[in-house]
Amino acid sequence: MRIAVLSDIHSNLVALDAVLADAGDVDGIWQLGDVVGYGPDPDGVVGRLAERGARGVRGNHDSAALGGLEIEWFNPEARQAVEWTRDHIQPATAAWLSAQPERLTVGDWSLVHGSPRDPMREYVTSTDIAEANIDVLPTTHGLHGHTHIPVAWLRDAGRVHMHRPTIGVPRSLAGQRGLLNPGSVGQPRDGDPEASYMILDLDSATATWFRVPYDIGAVQSAMRAARLPRRLVDRLAIGA
Ligand code: ZN
Repeated sequence: MRIAVLSDIHSNLVALDAVLADAGDVDGIWQLGDVVGYGPDPDGVVGRLAERGARGVRGNHDSAALGGLEIEWFNPEARQAVEWTRDHIQPATAAWLSAQPERLTVGDWSLVHGSPRDPMREYVTSTDIAEANIDVLPTTHGLHGHTHIPVAWLRDAGRVHMHRPTIGVPRSLAGQRGLLNPGSVGQPRDGDPEASYMILDLDSATATWFRVPYDIGAVQSAMRAARLPRRLVDRLAIGA
């Protein structure tokens, strides 16, 4: 079973389609929230995920776009993008987003946006935070996004270590509890502007991260036409 794990797509349909083409035939798509926010095409992204039967969870931007999370939590540009999204999404898009739970368990995998103990707010950014969350994981492995940084937090020999993925090289998860972050499809922040995603092979218990180029200029033009904040347009080109 090959599962494509996607997070933080952020209304970027061009990046999503590039990732889906790169992943090819998969047995499932799991998405980790922040489907909308920042980018110019929330309806297109939700339509594509619905058509492909993706399963997953809601992120803080998705909740805010639905009016379920205070936008005071967001910085000014993110808030502006949330308000733009609220004003532009179709009812079917809002209904699909509302149907996404905060937590989802599939087999031995827990899916959340932020962290297992606080799916809407906490950023897993250190081994201490990762360890506290691995301790409360109801399953062997957890999948999270929110930071937009591809990374694996794995407990080996009793301690939690951070592993930066090597692109295209499978990492074995056998015998290790941990949290995995596929990185961001639609707004990478690790200095590499290419879309990031992960393939899980459930039979061999391996995770492999990938990067995919896409037409960043086309997305930037659509964002300018939509009058989305300039800083959000610029950051796509530098992956920060
Ligand atoms: Zn995000």
